[in-house]
Amino acid sequence: MTRYPIMVLLAGLAAGCTSSPAVRQPEASSRRAIFVSFDAMNQDRARRTVDPAAIPNLLAFFDQASCADGARPMWPSLTAASHAALWTGTYGNVNGVVANTMTPLPWADFSLTETQSGFDARQLESEPIWIAAARQGRRVVDHHGTQTGYPGHWLPGGGRDTAAMRRDSAAIASPELFMVNGYTGGSDPRLLTSSRNPSHPAQGWTNVGPPDVEMWEVSWTIGRDSVFALFRGGEALIGRTRDGATAVRVRMAPPEQAPLEGRPLARYFSDPLWFPEPGGRRSGVYFRLWRLDPDGGYELYQSGRNANWTNQPQVIAGYESFVGGFVGNSAWTIMRDAGPPIERGGDGSAELKYLETAELETRQMMRGSEWAWKIRNPDLQVEYFSLADDLDHSWFGFVAGTVPGVSAETARKINLMRSRGWALVDRRLAGLRELARGSNALLVVSGDHGMRAIWWLFYPNTVLRNAGLLAVDGNGRIDLSRTRAVANPYFITVNRTGRKAGTVPPGQVDRVVDSVIAALRGARGPDGTPIVTEIRRPEPNDTLGIGGPAGGDVYFGLAPGYYYSAAITDSVSTGRTPAGNHGFPSIDPDMRTVLCAIGPGVGGQRLPTARVIDAAPTVSAWLGMTPPLNARGRSLLEAMRAR
Ligand SMILES: [Zn+2]
Repeated sequence: MTRYPIMVLLAGLAAGCTSSPAVRQPEASSRRAIFVSFDAMNQDRARRTVDPAAIPNLLAFFDQASCADGARPMWPSLTAASHAALWTGTYGNVNGVVANTMTPLPWADFSLTETQSGFDARQLESEPIWIAAARQGRRVVDHHGTQTGYPGHWLPGGGRDTAAMRRDSAAIASPELFMVNGYTGGSDPRLLTSSRNPSHPAQGWTNVGPPDVEMWEVSWTIGRDSVFALFRGGEALIGRTRDGATAVRVRMAPPEQAPLEGRPLARYFSDPLWFPEPGGRRSGVYFRLWRLDPDGGYELYQSGRNANWTNQPQVIAGYESFVGGFVGNSAWTIMRDAGPPIERGGDGSAELKYLETAELETRQMMRGSEWAWKIRNPDLQVEYFSLADDLDHSWFGFVAGTVPGVSAETARKINLMRSRGWALVDRRLAGLRELARGSNALLVVSGDHGMRAIWWLFYPNTVLRNAGLLAVDGNGRIDLSRTRAVANPYFITVNRTGRKAGTVPPGQVDRVVDSVIAALRGARGPDGTPIVTEIRRPEPNDTLGIGGPAGGDVYFGLAPGYYYSAAITDSVSTGRTPAGNHGFPSIDPDMRTVLCAIGPGVGGQRLPTARVIDAAPTVSAWLGMTPPLNARGRSLLEAMRAR
């Protein structure tokens, strides 16, 4: 694959110079910015629990940039909701995105048990920064930001309210705005093995040369399409037909153990195998062969099949030719299949295989960022990177030091793997910083939430049922006709009569809320201590962003170790395997994310705790434009200027 040469423009602006007040800031009209969200990034957790040797660039960035003492996310601190706040400069009580899975507006059209994804652009009631910038004539790239797509509200049949689309359609049609979003569904990554999908002698292949070695094959489907793999002599040929001429090749190599330094990322993966997708799109799938025995035994990984959505179909071909297929996450689901994990006596090979999928994600996202920044030459480039969230959902529970029953030795071994993963997060930051520095641009780094160790589940809907506030039918599903409140499960919403299938008239709402709060306060864990530690009702125009038309009536925090579940069960809580998670109150310090910036004349300042809604106004101020419509956060740019 052809790579564009690394630009060395302005290479003289080395690290130390960027925070010097002597550096002249470019005129606002010619300023550029990269605005990136690192999912689940939290400075305190990174500093305390990741091997510092794995994240030198991240630590240097925190030291050299101007950083708030964390940024308060959305409550609940969930990815879709907090990102909506980050991009729009206003919390979910205004922007309409209140959870990852949520009941859409308007009330009359959707009951409390009808939910949609909060990642869909159609949930967004407020303008994201990429639309605001394009509307103001700026050149913009939106590289896999959440809620990237056509705005406009949901209609009950699945269509959209076109009024909101008309508002933004000029910006979206502008050739100055390039939006690309690979998080559009598709099929999951998969690990194929000889025990689950045995190979058999190959037949009917063309263009594979003389059969001088024993050849085995397997076939399976990716989405609706068949795929064929031919194993021979230490490699596999994989194609959509049994034709070596159109197949991609992958060489067998054991799991990568070498340090990242001095080698390409994901170096043992195949080139992408391309699949046509509806609407003229395409998806590229990668393969990795960890084991191939002379008798046809094998272990073959296949990445997910995901097509990029874009507003610029004429641009995407160039992007995809450079980048390859979209890989938006590490494949944590394959760790189940790749061998016993460390906590169950594994030797670490399952984790090493998983980490290679994290390398693939990192490489693909970095390629896309580089292409977009250099070829599209935008004033503003919005970026997203999931990996820290993936890693710490899997592993933070074992290394946090708070979970009973995890041995120090298990924690140490897992944290070696986790730090190896964080080294990729570090690499991604270094890549973005290099792009920004080479163009005299501002780099703004934020995120969506922190992470907490969990080992219990709490079932608020069970609490509501036990209190007579929620009823279930014979199939165990919520019966809204006999239900007065529902937990989503991060907050509880009264089933008002103004809603579809609502039961509670306005005059009874306060009484139901009081009953909900009493029931939550009464919830006890197996040791008899309260599970719910904090309860809050939204205020009008709530400054924490709770409540609002799409939000709930009662918000609550949980005792250490507990996480929210919507399930209705026999017990109000059960134990679970340790993990990391988020979604807790935004006022809890461990749910804070980062908000830092570095660039010409910006760096070195320590700011008090900020809010994720301050990020978009800060970026807007740097670019000399007005913030997104509805933005309520305020610019931190002046406070971030180097002094
Ligand atoms: Zn997240």
